[in-house]
Amino acid sequence: MKLLHASLCLISLLLILPSIFAASSSEDFDFFYFVQQWPGSYCDTQRSCCFPTSGKPAADFGIHGLWPNYKDGTYPSNCDNTKPFDSSSISDLISSMQKSWPTLACPSGSGETFWEHEWEKHGTCSESVIDQHEYFQTALNLKQKTDLLGALTKAGINPDGKSYSIESIRDSIKESTGFTPWIQCNTDESGNSQLYQVYLCVDRSGSGLIECPVFPRGKCGDEINFPSF
Ligand code: 5GP
Ligand code: 5GP
Repeated sequence: MKLLHASLCLISLLLILPSIFAASSSEDFDFFYFVQQWPGSYCDTQRSCCFPTSGKPAADFGIHGLWPNYKDGTYPSNCDNTKPFDSSSISDLISSMQKSWPTLACPSGSGETFWEHEWEKHGTCSESVIDQHEYFQTALNLKQKTDLLGALTKAGINPDGKSYSIESIRDSIKESTGFTPWIQCNTDESGNSQLYQVYLCVDRSGSGLIECPVFPRGKCGDEINFPSF
């Protein structure tokens, strides 16, 4: 009888364990992608864009997001619906976010809808390491540390509508940041491939850049446009 009881207990434990493991690991992650977008390439597509209510953003890369990721290329999302976006907890960061994390989607908005989406989809999956204020602060710090436009223009790569080799774009960002970026392209209204987003990888604590454990999928042409904004 005792043996039966003990084996029943063991079986239930074995049944429960995987779900406990899945619940905790779904909120864990290996590294972040820090993704910045070129506004000119968001705006000249068929979808077009709308400037934020605070006005036309600077002609500079803007933050898209800080995305927890797994080393196998998959990623968690929407990890905690009990922690909604709370703009009052980041009131000291709002003016920097308007400058560095502008929204370009239509209709025009202040940016809150974009930041809320990024927090809920990605930020909530980093709660084991950083809270909401730290999440946005970390992204702002990374933006300051990685001057992508400066890196490109120093290498003679300017947002002038001309085309540049993807290799020269990658090399100039590597030269300046010390790490190999992943470049994502989109197409303008005429179908030309162009520089849309730059991915850099960041360690789990959000404090420093690392070499990417895995790159996303997708490919640009060898030569891509860098449109003006
Ligand atoms: P897209 O399909 O346009 O590249 O990505 C759509 C959205 O899916 C992104 O804005 C982002 O929220 C999410 N996403 C796409 N690829 C990745 C990825 O490799 N890692 C993470 N964490 N999110 C991604
Ligand atoms: P993701 O692709 O990160 O999952 O989703 C981006 C969401 O944020 C979309 O719903 C998109 O409409 C919205 N959004 C608002 N502003 C921007 C922007 O400037 N760039 C991008 N990529 N998405 C934005």
